[in-house]
Amino acid sequence: MKSRKPLVAGNWKMNGDVVANEHLFTTLRSALERTSTSRIDIVVCPPFPYLGQAIAWLSDTGIAVGGQNVAAADQGAFTGEVSAGMLADLGCRWAIVGHSERRTLFGETDEVVAAKTHTALAQGIGVIVCVGESLEERERGLTEAVLARQVDAFAAALAGPGRERVVVAYEPVWAIGTGRSASNDMAQQAHRFIRDRLALQDSEAAEQVRILYGGSVKPSNAIGLFSMPDIDGGLIGGASLVADDFLNICRAAAAA
Ligand code: PEP
Repeated sequence: MKSRKPLVAGNWKMNGDVVANEHLFTTLRSALERTSTSRIDIVVCPPFPYLGQAIAWLSDTGIAVGGQNVAAADQGAFTGEVSAGMLADLGCRWAIVGHSERRTLFGETDEVVAAKTHTALAQGIGVIVCVGESLEERERGLTEAVLARQVDAFAAALAGPGRERVVVAYEPVWAIGTGRSASNDMAQQAHRFIRDRLALQDSEAAEQVRILYGGSVKPSNAIGLFSMPDIDGGLIGGASLVADDFLNICRAAAAA
């Protein structure tokens, strides 16, 4: 039995609408009334316009709500950005930071990811910081070098206030939305590398930090992945939009 409490987070990306969301929330609520999920933490991350709807539906269920992104700055002239303080004000407890789509499509650098991490923690928000190599980087044998660079950029957060709110998500880019998950052993190896790298900053905090796997997690592969010694749950994209799949993935995390 692992000492770290598993966490499953659903990243809806730019999907959903008021009616479809209501259906998903209703199913999640009624399933939770029948299943004990106290063994795990569950987070749902809808697009910004639906955060209020999610909080209204889920605040009494134990499911936390998070943003898919957060600004590096606290406030001011940053059109289109959403601050960590605003997320906290609304009742959000988490933000995803440095998702590979933010890094590749919106140019987020390691420095930006680190700044967002520190700002969110300072505002009381928990962070799910994403790292992971591209297919080309893996094929060129650069996986560990890429992970080391990405982890080192935010590792100081493990030594500062709010460090218990730091969660890392290992998401190999080639596995995101492709249906092609990393094997259990491949994922475990990367997770161990990330934990060892974080230990260079603070060995005690590194043993306690939750490291999630993300990339084509489905009910059928969740239990195998989550049973690996350094995998503490998952960051779920596509399957988080299908209530039964998401719930079965949560159950796998509770059973692992
Ligand atoms: C993600 O977007 O973080 C993700 C892991 O997506 P998927 O589960 O669809 O691969």
